[in-house]
Amino acid sequence: MKVFKFGGASVSSTERIQQVAHILKSYQGEELLIVISAMGKTTNALEKVVEAFYDNKKDEALQLFEAIKHAHITTSKYLLVKNFNETLDRLTDFFTEVEWLLHDKPVQGFDYYYDQVVCIGELLSTVIVSAYLNEVGFSNHWVDVRDIIRTDDNFRDANIDWHYSSGKAENVVVPLLKEHKVIITQGFIGSTDEMESTTLGREGSDYTAAVFANLLNAEGQYIWKDVEGVMNADPKLFPDAQLLSELNYDEVIEMAYYGAQVIHPKTIKPLQNKGIPLYVKCFLDKELPGTVIHKKSLKGLPPIVVLKQNQALIQLHSLDFSFVGEKPVADLYQLLADSKIKPNLMQTGAVTIQVCLDNQTEKIEKLALAAAGIFDVQVETGLTLLTIRHYTQEVLQKMIAGKTVELLQQTPETVQVVLK
Ligand code: ASP
Ligand code: MG
Repeated sequence: MKVFKFGGASVSSTERIQQVAHILKSYQGEELLIVISAMGKTTNALEKVVEAFYDNKKDEALQLFEAIKHAHITTSKYLLVKNFNETLDRLTDFFTEVEWLLHDKPVQGFDYYYDQVVCIGELLSTVIVSAYLNEVGFSNHWVDVRDIIRTDDNFRDANIDWHYSSGKAENVVVPLLKEHKVIITQGFIGSTDEMESTTLGREGSDYTAAVFANLLNAEGQYIWKDVEGVMNADPKLFPDAQLLSELNYDEVIEMAYYGAQVIHPKTIKPLQNKGIPLYVKCFLDKELPGTVIHKKSLKGLPPIVVLKQNQALIQLHSLDFSFVGEKPVADLYQLLADSKIKPNLMQTGAVTIQVCLDNQTEKIEKLALAAAGIFDVQVETGLTLLTIRHYTQEVLQKMIAGKTVELLQQTPETVQVVLK
């Protein structure tokens, strides 16, 4: 069997949902588990609903939710004829669940409500897509993933209970696959042992698909994206970016670590553990070969460029000009952990430490304040962090030409530069 994943952009309009059906035609008769995200920007819109609710702005929350309902009903009307009424009933059940909650006053933590509301996006999209595919003759069975994927109650970043979920995959999903061949289910969400909904972190649907691929010993995971495959640079910024037709797990983990937005970073491990290949395929042209990510060791990869915009560089200078020894470094690490800051790059010199990180004003101010007892602190913002894997001097020089280099760090494999 194969696991497919269609992201929000692949189900963002009626035309796109029709394109999903067109892609699936090539796989007619195969056993498929299809993981789907919320439509388009629905997750962002639902986040606004929870924020308003938690701010005690009930009317605003309900109003924002009304727009989400409307969008989903409109999409269903365009796509469905025979299955419209039944689908509307199912959507309405989900709408009602959220509305009940929105009528209450918040008494629990924000993250709890976030998950109860935001999970609806995936439930709505899968109900509609499943009904549409059934209507056009691609018969499939809809599964509520919350009955299968069990997590802890670390809301918004829940951890999977592999033991329980694996039992469910075996006892529920495998027989359903035998019976129906095609299962449609939600990415990104799960549920606790008390049947509370949870989410796995933004963009988590890739990860859900990888979890299923692992549990079901899939022959492959296929992620359908708006790009030709994985490129060696962002084609929007670098028009001569080239397709990487083959990558290995290690390279993709490195790329994700440096900030490439190819695949959700958690996705690789479940696949790597079972040696399951990941295919990144082009949603708009299913005939294109795309990229395969597997175990092979690879030689001769071209330079891979990752840019992280909106960076800040913190310069910490020892107050009395004494060397930056273990103690101040240890203190700094503690401060970073306390402020929940994950540095993208750090460099220690004789009397200074430099930390490059995403520019999150509030966190940086907090850190600067706390560090002021130990260091003289200076913050510079509006910077870019450039990472090149498999770099050559030529590519590096070309990329930094005309810019000011604030910091440069390199290994034989990877160079990182903070640029102004
Ligand atoms: N809908 C979720 C999000 O937008 C999950 C996903 O798309 O993978 O983050
Ligand atoms: Mg998405």
